[in-house]
Amino acid sequence: MDYDTYGSTAVELAIELANAERDDPQWAGAFLSSHEEWFTPGTSFELSAGEVQRAAATAELVRAVALAETQPDVLDRLNELLALARPRPYATDHDGELHLHYARPDSPALEQLTTTVAMGLSQVVVQHGWQRLGVCAAENCDDVYVDTSRNASRRYCSNTCASRSTVAAYRARQKTD
Ligand SMILES: [Zn+2]
Ligand SMILES: [Zn+2]
Repeated sequence: MDYDTYGSTAVELAIELANAERDDPQWAGAFLSSHEEWFTPGTSFELSAGEVQRAAATAELVRAVALAETQPDVLDRLNELLALARPRPYATDHDGELHLHYARPDSPALEQLTTTVAMGLSQVVVQHGWQRLGVCAAENCDDVYVDTSRNASRRYCSNTCASRSTVAAYRARQKTD
């Protein structure tokens, strides 16, 4: 899959949100700060407790879409996520490349987050198929991923999980020999 064909890597933000650790009550603000390139400069990353809960709900919906195994389930969950979005697209070249932003630039951080994530994920699903989303096949990992490989062959969330699993499979084979 070539991102240039639809001009957005926003799905990566969706995947990273779905995989974000949420043990620390400050997780959402920390997530926003570490992804600040996605937000209008000057946007406040201070979230209320309610906003943190809504960010978690968005993360759960992204995960639910990635885990869904039938198209009707994908559509239900994706539409639930899209209902949280408030798209107000505009074209920009702020980074030198002409591209679309999905959220109103002066909207609060949570609105920018939810809208960008919902639109980015939807673009991939409708243009490349929901089978492009999956959950890591490694033991003890349940992170989700978007498969951007040409032949849609991805099974792991990361190279770390892929090589860990290769080693584990090799050891398991040796034991049974
Ligand atoms: Zn941009
Ligand atoms: Zn993994």
